[in-house]
Amino acid sequence: MPSASTIQSLTQLSYLVAAALFIVGLKRMSSPVTAVSGVRWAGVGMVLATVVTLGFMGASSFNLMLVIGSIAVGGIVAWVSGKRVAMTDMPQMIALYNGMGGGAAAAIAAVELYRGSEHSITHLTIATIGGFIGSVSFSGSLIAFAKLQGLITKSVRFGGQKFMNLAILLVTLGLGFIIVSGLGAQAGGLPAISLFFAFALALGVAMTLPIGGADMPVVISLYNALTGLAVGFEGFVLDNAAMIIAGTVVGAAGTLLTQLMAKAMNRSLGNVLFSNFGESSSAGGGSVTGTQKAIEASDGGVMMAYSQKIIIVPGYGMAVAQAQHKVWELTQLLIDHGVKVRFAIHPVAGRMPGHMNVLLAEAGVPYDLISDLDEINAEFETADVALIIGANDVVNPDARANRSSPIFGMPILNADKAKNVIVIKRGQGQGFSGIDNALFVLDQTRMLYGDAQSAVSQLIQAVKAAG
Ligand code: NAP
Repeated sequence: MPSASTIQSLTQLSYLVAAALFIVGLKRMSSPVTAVSGVRWAGVGMVLATVVTLGFMGASSFNLMLVIGSIAVGGIVAWVSGKRVAMTDMPQMIALYNGMGGGAAAAIAAVELYRGSEHSITHLTIATIGGFIGSVSFSGSLIAFAKLQGLITKSVRFGGQKFMNLAILLVTLGLGFIIVSGLGAQAGGLPAISLFFAFALALGVAMTLPIGGADMPVVISLYNALTGLAVGFEGFVLDNAAMIIAGTVVGAAGTLLTQLMAKAMNRSLGNVLFSNFGESSSAGGGSVTGTQKAIEASDGGVMMAYSQKIIIVPGYGMAVAQAQHKVWELTQLLIDHGVKVRFAIHPVAGRMPGHMNVLLAEAGVPYDLISDLDEINAEFETADVALIIGANDVVNPDARANRSSPIFGMPILNADKAKNVIVIKRGQGQGFSGIDNALFVLDQTRMLYGDAQSAVSQLIQAVKAAG
């Protein structure tokens, strides 16, 4: 039997290996080519950390059975839901899982605080901060999930709401102070702790209810960062290095992702959290004048078949229609015709970063045909056709030219610079931000109305017919 200190060293070493696996996994997830293996590397790290923790934690066999049972139930639910979820529903699934992480961190804090054994003030402070962040993230993520799933359809807003939220925040912080200072223990302890968690949970709900459903992906990313932070704090409480490192990495990655999304939408985080963007269709910004000109698929197909260079811009509509396989079929046909085809991906096309890359990868589109905004924007000028498939805001030239537009300043794909533009969408509906699109009425733009999947199928027939 190895000595206690050997076990301790082995445990810490295993945590270090697990942490290294998380980091390698994350690194690999940053490219679609290596993303799947990245998930596996991180998964192996997670299994290692879990096994080591279970093996060396010295729990009673009853507790061990409870933990293993929970892992089995959670694992099965995650496996089944992960297999079934549609790509367009991914943001709410992330919200739900993320909320669970925050809730788990808060639960650890609750156990530590309720147990009430002699803790140093540092220990108490860290547990309390982690409990606070984890609770806010838990309840906030559940509301975000409910909004994206359509279970909550209205954004609750009323006068004085920000003051009410501020009051809830101050009461929560006050209760946290009472817990940390030991005043709560003198008053019996438990009521202060229970109230603290109740108010922290209420804060997550109150903060998230007024935010427009349209802004939820950014909010989810923020809660993801907070969950990571909460897990990191609770890692200190449990003296678990794997949790500290994994939590910090998730916190940092979530913060970067939140920043990236806000930047790509040209919004500040404050604006996302405290304004009602995208809620009304009267978002203003000077309505677009001019009329949209329709085109038949047969004419569009001929135009494309005789082009030299086509840039395809996919958006949310392609995801909804699940048109990616047809799009790849069309692309191959065009390449066979000697047309140079590229894909242009905006960082927030669709409903989460990477949304389009994943769909195109799923359809088998090679990565070297896919470019991001910075790489491809200068190339639109040399394109004969920009084919926009269910994208809207990410190609709205008002973001570049119209100062009064709500999306002014948002970086966009310069599809309007192409010689011809064909836009596939079902009708005259607006995009995510609820504003009209100046691209759709330009002289060189033609609208191919219809569901993306059937419109692309018609284009395939037309290109074939063109010989
Ligand atoms: P979008 O602005 O939401 O526009 C999508 C367009 O697709 C709509 O105009 C719609 O027009 C069309 N459409 C819907 N269903 C369709 C179907 N079955 N077939 C064909 N067309 C269909 O999408 P986007 O250009 O991809 O821009 C993404 C937006 O989401 C941006 O405003 C971005 O800021 C926001 N956002 C993205 C993220 C992210 O991380 N990706 C996060 C938060 C917010 P019709 O109704 O006329 O068909």
